[in-house]
Amino acid sequence: MLKRIDIGRDFKRHKEEYMQAIEKVCEETAYSGGKYADQFAAEFARYLGVAAATGVNNGTSALQLAMLCLGIGEGDEVIVPANTYIATAWGVTYTGAKPVFVDCTADTWEIDPARIEEKITERTKAIIGVHLYGQPFEFKAVKEIADRHGLYVVEDCAQSAGAKYEGVMTGGLGNIGCFSFYPGKNLYAFGEGGAVTSNDPAYIDKADVFKNQGCRVRYYHEVVGYNMRLEGIQGAVLSVSLQYLNDWNARRIEIGKRYDREITNPLFKLQYHPENTQPVYHLYEVQVPDPDHFLKYMAEKDIECNRHYPVPCHLQQAYQDLGYKRGDCPNAEQLADHCATLPLFPEMRDEEAAMVIAACNAYQG
Ligand SMILES: *Cc1c(COP(=O)(O)O)cnc(C)c1O
Repeated sequence: MLKRIDIGRDFKRHKEEYMQAIEKVCEETAYSGGKYADQFAAEFARYLGVAAATGVNNGTSALQLAMLCLGIGEGDEVIVPANTYIATAWGVTYTGAKPVFVDCTADTWEIDPARIEEKITERTKAIIGVHLYGQPFEFKAVKEIADRHGLYVVEDCAQSAGAKYEGVMTGGLGNIGCFSFYPGKNLYAFGEGGAVTSNDPAYIDKADVFKNQGCRVRYYHEVVGYNMRLEGIQGAVLSVSLQYLNDWNARRIEIGKRYDREITNPLFKLQYHPENTQPVYHLYEVQVPDPDHFLKYMAEKDIECNRHYPVPCHLQQAYQDLGYKRGDCPNAEQLADHCATLPLFPEMRDEEAAMVIAACNAYQG
C-alpha cells in the first residue's frame, strides 16, 4: 500500500543525525525549552528572514499566543476562513473572542478577500489568513482590507513552511505568523511542536512570557501565563530537519507540478496556483464528484488517500451556537463535499507518483 504520507522513510534516511541530536539533549538534560529549543527558534527566524521567532508546544498554542499578543479577547471578533483545520478557530475561541467565518474562492480554495468586508463589524480586531495546503493566500488584498479597517493580519502557516508570496516567505508577511510542526507537516518534530514568528520583536517577547508561565524571571509571574514551551528534543530534531526543508519542498513542488500537468481526467478539479506565489504542496487536494467512492477505488489500487477537510468550520458541531447554516459559505461547502487528498511526500518515488497519476486518469466515477 502506498501511504498518503510516509514519514518513516525520512527517519530511515537520516536516523544517525536525528539520534545524535537527541542524544546531545539528553546528555545536557536540556529538556524543556532551553538551549536546543532556543537555537532552533533562532535558526528558523533566519531561515524565514523574520526579525524573531519563538518555539512553542504546538500550532494550536501558536495561534492562541498570537491572539494574546495582540490583546484579543472577550467581546472581540476575528475573521477566519471557513475552510481550514479547526485549530485556526480554536486559538480565537480560547481567548474568549469569536471567530467569524468567511468563504474561500472557487479556484484557489484560499480565503476570498471579496467576502471579508461584509463580515467586519466594530468588534473585529484581526483577520487570520491560512496558507492552506501550502498555497499562500492573496495577502496583498487581505492586507489592504486590514489596513483600511485598522485590523491585524495573522498568518496560519501550519501548512506553508518555506512557501513564498511575491518572493517573501510566509510567516513574515502579516503581524504574526503561526507554525505547527506536527508530524506530517512539511517541517515536523518527533512529537508536537510549533512556532510564533514576527517582524516585530515585541510580539515575540510577549509570546515568550505567555508561553513560559507568565515569567521572564523564574518564579516572578508578570501575567497569567501558560505552559507552552517547545521541548528541547523537538528543537534539536527540528534543527536537523530544517537543513533539509528546502530539498523536501523542492521535491514536493516537483511532484505537485507533475500532478498539475499530468492529471487530465475531466472528473477532477485541481487547485489554482496564482503566478505570484510559490506553493509548497503540503497537501495535494483535488475535487471529485464522490470522494468516498474515489477513496475506495484508490484503496483497491493499493493507494491510500484521505480528505482535508470533510466538514467546514462553520458547520462543525462545536460551533453550532454561532448559528451558521449550510449555504453560508458555498465554496467551502463545495470543497468539503468533494475534496480528496492524493499521496504526496518528499521521499515518494517517481514510479509511485506515476502510479497515482495513472489511477486518477483511469478513474471513471
Ligand atoms: C496542523 C494545523 C494546525 C494546528 O497545529 P497543531 O500543531 O496540530 O496544534 C492549525 N492550523 C492548520 C491549518 C493546521 O494544518
